[in-house]
Amino acid sequence: MPSPGWYYRLSRFFKETFSEKVYKIPLDAGFSCPNRDGTISTGGCIFCYNPSFSPAALAGEREGRLPSVQEQIRSFQLRAEKKAEKFEARPKAHEELQKHKGYKAHEMQAAKTAESSCPARYDKVTPWEGSCPVSRSTESSRKAAQRDPETTGNSCSRRQSGAPAAPADAKNFQPRRKYLAYFQAYSNTYAPLPHLQKLYEEALSAPGIIGLSIATRPDCLGPGVLELLQSYAQKYHIWLELGLQSSSDRTLRLINRGHTYHDFEQAVLESSNRGIYICAHLINGLPGEGRAEMLETIAKINSLPLHGVKFHQLQVFRGTPLARLYEKGEVPLLSLRDYLEILCDQLELLRGDIVVHRLLSEAASEELLIAPRWDIGRSRFSQLVEGELKARGSWQGKMRAAKGESAR
Ligand code: SF4
Repeated sequence: MPSPGWYYRLSRFFKETFSEKVYKIPLDAGFSCPNRDGTISTGGCIFCYNPSFSPAALAGEREGRLPSVQEQIRSFQLRAEKKAEKFEARPKAHEELQKHKGYKAHEMQAAKTAESSCPARYDKVTPWEGSCPVSRSTESSRKAAQRDPETTGNSCSRRQSGAPAAPADAKNFQPRRKYLAYFQAYSNTYAPLPHLQKLYEEALSAPGIIGLSIATRPDCLGPGVLELLQSYAQKYHIWLELGLQSSSDRTLRLINRGHTYHDFEQAVLESSNRGIYICAHLINGLPGEGRAEMLETIAKINSLPLHGVKFHQLQVFRGTPLARLYEKGEVPLLSLRDYLEILCDQLELLRGDIVVHRLLSEAASEELLIAPRWDIGRSRFSQLVEGELKARGSWQGKMRAAKGESAR
């Protein structure tokens, strides 16, 4: 039986699977989305502004250029390796100090304090938090790429024409740690198959990359996409992250998702039994939803062959249709306390074998965020969740076991 406060963290899953930390590298590979380019709609989901949650998309938007997938990977790895080495070097420096200058108790205490507040601590902060190492593309170049990704400025040709040379210290760079290439921005299966293959394999051939995490819509798994991912899964670790947000079709219509719950269900079933790990993205606090609807979503996804879930609170970003509704007072938002309590209710109901990838969204840029402004990071929030579950004497899946269903 799990102990109070337990939930199945992604970091634990990676340690169990690879015996070490795995870093996820957020990428913007120049994709678009059928819910924005007119194929389904032009407005997009009412909450969506990709640079607000994708550090890679934000960096590209600001710099007006899109580095190649390998450049983005290398740039992230350089920073992550440097940070990790700095962290690993700290205890050694302290040992040297003890050997040569003599140990003083208060110095040891000071070193421990500094260590515990170091943002590079693996167990405290996800490595991709904070400013992103990559840089940018414009919305217009993205649209051009989507119009004809085979022949016009697709993400590869944009990168090839505009990419600067790699920094000198990156030439012989060999990462020591393990990384997943996370195709995060927009719909990352929305392109002709040869173009997808080119981008995915560009990532897989980068040093240190052990697999892919691909975020997309459930209605964007065109012919050959799942077969391609299945072929990679024989050698690499592959996650498919499907946006659902809510299991209520009424809510999905309200937020202009352009697909139904049935579409999601079908996508999960078609993706299963292929060696691919499948993760659902959910948003709590969507317009018209209360605790009952949010719990209903968990009850529904529990019956699917899912391996992971990512939770987000509804956030209002500048320039989105949601921002206009919010400013008219038409969208009440959850308080931090309400979000925490509903999330813990959901975790208690969630199957114990489903890996929790995320509990809280963090804006890639605070300037873009209108509300809610909770001023709390993921690390601190996960401590609150653990504390709340402990106070309830509860853990992930406990309510399923209480109802006589298998916690797994
Ligand atoms: S499907 Fe994703 S990228 Fe497309 S509009 Fe919705 S949130 Fe944005």
